[in-house]
Amino acid sequence: MLAAYITHTDCQKHDMGNQHPECPERLGAVNDQLLIKGLLDYMDQLDAPLATREQLARAHSEFYLDEFAEIAQSVPDGGHRQIDPDTNINEFSYQAALRAAGAAVLATNLVAAGQAPVAFCNIRPPGHHAERSNAGGFCFFNNVVVGIRHALAQHGMERVALIDFDVHHGNGSEDILFDDQRVLMCSIFEKNLYPFCGDVPMGANMINVGLPSRSGSEAFRQAVMDAWLPALEKFQPQMIFISAGFDGHREDDMGNLALVESDYEWVTKQLVQIAQKYCQGRIVSCLEGGYDLSSLGRSATAHVRVLIGAD
Ligand SMILES: [Zn+2]
Repeated sequence: MLAAYITHTDCQKHDMGNQHPECPERLGAVNDQLLIKGLLDYMDQLDAPLATREQLARAHSEFYLDEFAEIAQSVPDGGHRQIDPDTNINEFSYQAALRAAGAAVLATNLVAAGQAPVAFCNIRPPGHHAERSNAGGFCFFNNVVVGIRHALAQHGMERVALIDFDVHHGNGSEDILFDDQRVLMCSIFEKNLYPFCGDVPMGANMINVGLPSRSGSEAFRQAVMDAWLPALEKFQPQMIFISAGFDGHREDDMGNLALVESDYEWVTKQLVQIAQKYCQGRIVSCLEGGYDLSSLGRSATAHVRVLIGAD
């Protein structure tokens, strides 16, 4: 049984304009490294379906879904519309966002049903800054939360963990999940960085650790051991979702946590061990940030290698 690798060419058509760091080339940077390192030979490559309204509405308000669909329809051919100061859409963005969320749903279906041991979604737009009723921070639909809510609603899961190691706090995921005790969210992020929140958790099911700038590998690993692992051991998740952002890498200008590939490899190992102990290894990982193309490709590859057990 092969691990699932889910992506879609539609995700490359979403383009926020010249020089935007959340660029279409990000997906190719990840794909190329996975290919070069031979990891795609060990994965079943699948096209992401479109998420349905019902699936999206488990994470987002009906009002927001209507509003975003309406704005998306008003984008002129070849043009853009601004959603927030950092976030634009073009004529293909809506379709790409539906594919990205649909990838998380397909990944959930495969892993929850035992048809794939784990899944990695190489997708954009990313999702973890998308709140219940707000887009922002390059995100429109909260892909990973759509997957989590699908696991809870359709696969009889009662306890699901969300791990977020993107350099930015997953404020959107926290906004949607903070009062959902079926979910434990564990986040490590750089303090005083967009979205400038997370220091005070919104709910008891939120394990947030803000680290100062330039914390480096040791502080990151210590936070995982001190805050995440005991909480995960106590919670005993039936399935683990990962918001896999690689913008904490020291070569990525978007943040300054100064992490390296071996940190992503190490944290993935810890999560695989928890998954093997409590949930038959079930992990769904979705790409979030990572904007320096070279370190993004290398870091995602280090993560996937451990995830699929090819290390
Ligand atoms: Zn980020």
